[in-house]
Amino acid sequence: MPDRRDFPDRLPHAATSSYAHDRHGLERTDEDWLERTWADPATRVLVIAGNRLLAADGRPRWLATADLPDAAAGPDALRLLLGEQPGDASYFAAIIDPAGAPGPEEQWQGLRDVLGEVVDTPEAGLVLHAMGMAEWHWSTSFCPRCGGPLSPAQAGHVLACASEGGCGRHQFPRTDPAVIMLITDGEPGAADERCLLGRNRVWPPGRYSTLAGFVEPGETFEDAVRREVWEESGVRVSDVTYFGNQPWPLPASVMIGFTGRAASLEIDVDGAEIEDAQWYTRDDIRTGLASGELMLPGGVSISHRLIQAWYGEPLDSSW
Ligand SMILES: [Zn+2]
Repeated sequence: MPDRRDFPDRLPHAATSSYAHDRHGLERTDEDWLERTWADPATRVLVIAGNRLLAADGRPRWLATADLPDAAAGPDALRLLLGEQPGDASYFAAIIDPAGAPGPEEQWQGLRDVLGEVVDTPEAGLVLHAMGMAEWHWSTSFCPRCGGPLSPAQAGHVLACASEGGCGRHQFPRTDPAVIMLITDGEPGAADERCLLGRNRVWPPGRYSTLAGFVEPGETFEDAVRREVWEESGVRVSDVTYFGNQPWPLPASVMIGFTGRAASLEIDVDGAEIEDAQWYTRDDIRTGLASGELMLPGGVSISHRLIQAWYGEPLDSSW
């Protein structure tokens, strides 16, 4: 077992933050600036029909504004400012009605279809931003208070209930926090130290991962960790330590990762969401992966990073 201090990936967030774009939030209401930036030949645009993006060879296609299909260049498209990659260019998304999406069906792909290709690249933050916003527009047709129609404002980042007789409220894009956690028992680094992994009842046999769940109103992240682990596995958790986070707009989450120490060991799964949970030593994981009886989450996810950081060496995951 390699020394875990030699392993650099102890405190990760999604690789996207390495490439954070300047979102130009203060320019979203500056129509002159928006027009100038849109007209810049260096500006690139991602066309999104509903919640599917224009792709080629499994990757998002970024077009110059002069090369946009009519549906994306015209006034019916929602022009969404993403921002600027410093030293590079400015980026927009053009969101169009899927009923008017041009070209062959297979060139329109969902975020899951391209995620593996973009997640560790400079375009990751732009694509996650664009698709998270598109999902929000896709699912937010009417004012949730009065049922009135909504109009985009602030370069696509606000939906205003602005029609006559409307209540005037603004809707903002939502991001739902979810905690995801690796709970351990035993002396850190010892051979008999164990971690708690569970499996969802809809997963194929052998697939296990970290437990996770949504934060409820009025709840701290740490309390959400303790509650979710208790509800899903019957295990009590004492200390909870922040690990890292990952935007996950599928459709509207951010995953906030934690490690936690077990205060009780007996497992009693909820049987509804979680079908089974088990304690695993590092040796159990090694032999389980080698025999194919155990499958762990893939490298794109924070769950993979949580398990790998504890395991102490690169994990050859299988899903
Ligand atoms: Zn309203």
